[in-house]
Amino acid sequence: MDSDIFSLLGKKIKRGQSVTLKLDIARLHTRTMIEVPVIVSRGKKPGPILLLNAGIHGDEVNGVEIVRQIIAKGYNNPDCGTVVCIPVLNVFGFLHKSREFPDGRDLNRVFPGSKEGSLASRFAYYLMKEIMPNVEYCIDYHTGASSRFNYTHLRIEGTDPKSSELAKVFGAPFILLSKELPKSLRSEAVKIGVSVLLFEGGKSLDLDRIVTRIGVKGALRVMQHLGMRDFTKELSNNNQQPYAEPVTLTESTWMRARYSGMFRTSVSIGTTIKKGMVLGTISDPFGEFEKRVIAKHNGIVICSNHSPIVYQGDAIFHIGFNK
Ligand SMILES: [Zn+2]
Repeated sequence: MDSDIFSLLGKKIKRGQSVTLKLDIARLHTRTMIEVPVIVSRGKKPGPILLLNAGIHGDEVNGVEIVRQIIAKGYNNPDCGTVVCIPVLNVFGFLHKSREFPDGRDLNRVFPGSKEGSLASRFAYYLMKEIMPNVEYCIDYHTGASSRFNYTHLRIEGTDPKSSELAKVFGAPFILLSKELPKSLRSEAVKIGVSVLLFEGGKSLDLDRIVTRIGVKGALRVMQHLGMRDFTKELSNNNQQPYAEPVTLTESTWMRARYSGMFRTSVSIGTTIKKGMVLGTISDPFGEFEKRVIAKHNGIVICSNHSPIVYQGDAIFHIGFNK
């Protein structure tokens, strides 16, 4: 697959060459062309082809920052193989600081897309046609939606031995085994043989140093493991986020608010909890009622809602556990 000439978006890229291509898909209503930069870096020797993708949801900026740092520090230049970086896939959402496309659609729910479909669907179609068939591995960077803060973890289905191996190598604190969402990039990429690691860390419209550090180091560990470049020096630097074997969680469940009101949590994400433990309180703003949120399972808090106000039924904690 990684031949002497790597063809992408109609360009031929030689070994040892680095180029920035543009995925031209649509215009804004002001006629401004929307370009999605695709940065391709080829090593001098053959090797695997890895895609680092972020910003499929335009407000999930931790991922954008992770891929930006990788490019800014030149970590995307491999000795062997090819690294393709897309720091901001959903440029429309990024412009508007929103998760969705201007047509209101979630790009990650319209794959594999269609040539004549909605704007988001066309976008998905071109990505599946032009980029995904040319890569072997993909790290797709996400964060929790709205105010929900995800403790850094990788999501894999757990059925592909290669993805499972790479998820361990990545070294995020947790690996959550989760079914691929239908019509997502992950589910469609897996169908054409791409090994996908889905990264989750932090919340939307927020930059978190610990999350971005884990995201960068994980990509370097994956590249090193695949034999693309030796990052021993970078990975040992000042000992931040040293490798620790991730804990695998096979199940997860959402806890929802039983009342509307002001929400305060009393546990940090990453905390191990026991059934019956008080995880927080929900109260009205007038001092009349205060209800405790009680854990229904033993497990680990992998996501916590940071919104100070919640409605009845809002997802407030995501608990991961093993049966
Ligand atoms: Zn996302």
